[in-house]
Amino acid sequence: MAGLKATSPTQLLNSTFGFESFKPGQRQIIDHLLNKTHVLAVMPTGSGKSLCYQIPPLVLNERAVVVSPLMALMDDQVAVLQDLGIPADRIHSNRSYEDNSDAWNQFKSRQSSLLYMSPEMLMSQKMLSALQRVETGMFVIDEAHCISKWGANFRPDYEALSKLNEIFPQAVIAAFTATADTATQQDIVQKLTKNNAVRFVQGFDRPNLRLTVKPKLNWKTQLLAFLDDKKQCSGIVYCLSRKQTEEVATFLQSKGYNSIAYHAGLDSETRSKHQDRFMTDPYVIMAATIAFGMGIDKPDIRFVAHVSLPGSMEAYYQEIGRAGRDGEPAETLLIYGLNDLFQRRRFIEDDGEDQGYKLREHKRLDSLLAYCEASSCRRIALLHYFNERISPCGNCDNCIDPPELIDGSELAKMTLSAIYRTGQFFGAAHIIDVLRGSRSEKIIERGHDQIKTFGIGSKYSKPYLQSFIRQLIAAGHIVLNIKKYGGLEISESGFKLLKGTTRFQCKQPSEPTPKQKIGRTLKESIPTHIYSGENAELLSRLKQKRLTLAQDQGVPAFVVFVDTVLYQMVERKPRNRDEFLNLVGVGPAKLEKYGDSFLSVINNS
Ligand code: ADP
Ligand code: MG
Ligand code: ZN
Repeated sequence: MAGLKATSPTQLLNSTFGFESFKPGQRQIIDHLLNKTHVLAVMPTGSGKSLCYQIPPLVLNERAVVVSPLMALMDDQVAVLQDLGIPADRIHSNRSYEDNSDAWNQFKSRQSSLLYMSPEMLMSQKMLSALQRVETGMFVIDEAHCISKWGANFRPDYEALSKLNEIFPQAVIAAFTATADTATQQDIVQKLTKNNAVRFVQGFDRPNLRLTVKPKLNWKTQLLAFLDDKKQCSGIVYCLSRKQTEEVATFLQSKGYNSIAYHAGLDSETRSKHQDRFMTDPYVIMAATIAFGMGIDKPDIRFVAHVSLPGSMEAYYQEIGRAGRDGEPAETLLIYGLNDLFQRRRFIEDDGEDQGYKLREHKRLDSLLAYCEASSCRRIALLHYFNERISPCGNCDNCIDPPELIDGSELAKMTLSAIYRTGQFFGAAHIIDVLRGSRSEKIIERGHDQIKTFGIGSKYSKPYLQSFIRQLIAAGHIVLNIKKYGGLEISESGFKLLKGTTRFQCKQPSEPTPKQKIGRTLKESIPTHIYSGENAELLSRLKQKRLTLAQDQGVPAFVVFVDTVLYQMVERKPRNRDEFLNLVGVGPAKLEKYGDSFLSVINNS
């Protein structure tokens, strides 16, 4: 592959990438890199970070090494670039010696400008000395938060990258990440550039993601209801345990979905086979633990569901963030119950001796809980956590179907009194039994049928009281004591409520109606005319064509075209090559390679 002729960033954007304009932030970052300024860019998933480092080496006709944490990710990125006619390659341990040395020779002779590598490959003595003999203009560190112990995914392999700046003082360092709070950002900049980088921090908002949180009643039924309109979508279901991933995958298979499991207990061959299937097959649902995640660059993931509580707000944000990178509508669902919270708290308690760490982690979990129990716009709550202010979003469950607010002071008093009179020792299930007047063995044995609040809440269902107690916990009036196996204790503010000196406003806990749907479904939120009648048929034939073309080359479908390009084909129905070239995301290389195939599908419709 021959090197591209040097040209301006805009020309490359328009002609090679086929895009009309830069996305916010891209141009500034490119300009800084062209001026050889170190950069740390914190930009949300799907905001187009790759373009920021792919363009400068092409403009300057220089070499750039791109560090990326996953081999599969490198393969896909390189496939996308090569398909655009951009000379790029990768070196990693899953490729043959010959392929790797071909890639190196191309890079060395400037036939290609972008070379992707894993951190351990780059920092090997052999590679470093080879690189010292050629001139490299830029080192790109993707997923840069992996270098920081403050961040969510510290990777020991990344730590060695802090030597790069010293070894290659002439080269510019470009670091990218989607999640890094201020402390993590400082750590990254300190380690990679000795505090010498310009920071670009872009908003965290991902308005195309629908946010929904539901109390856990029966997760299987709830998951099925959620997936009902998503038969032709790929997505991820995050689970707490390895066992649960297998359970979810088997369950979904039995319901006719194409679902597979992914967790750290699988051998690496199975893991990469499953990951490949997720990237390449159409409509795969991955049931996974958090082991599946970093660098999942598939742009057309249409949903992310959680069947239990994530570990923190950061983790939640990162996990849902894998959906909808292409900017099209995508849905998220979090189903959680008090048991999940208890388990999470226990994980934290069991994790070593560092008290400061535990306190921090419990606080992070508190924020997530408050988010789950929020009674107004969820996006406001989510972004508030990342210090961003927005107005109500219109794309979360609370905006679409605002919960009714009630004065829960009386029921709160009864509940707190039941907790107090049973010795602040029992978990939510027992307290609910007391309130509802259950004559269980445990209750009779302890004489809890004799206390004043016994049966006082008999008119409420269990889920109603569960929701109510979760809200008391989220508001900090009740504390879940892990050392007492989830026993409920009353906090200082809880005692004020018990005495009646403060009041408690809360959401009307809804009675269970798991089948009930709220708001628009996914299909309805993508412009309807694309999904109806002849258009639906055309879209499906275009998708089929894309799949065939991708399979012929052994690449994921999105390498050929992402969904948004297919939507444009349906909407604008280009009839000839000129019109085809006008689609956003189509440049000359794509036109040459695929234009006629897709035009014939459109012209025969
Ligand atoms: P990130 O790494 O920030 O999550 P990517 O670099 O993977 O995001 O880009 C996400 C999607 O946006 C890709 O499909 C990419 O082709 C597309 N994209 C990037 N820049 C532009 C642009 N200027 N105009 C239109 N689409 C773009
Ligand atoms: Mg990226
Ligand atoms: Zn909202």
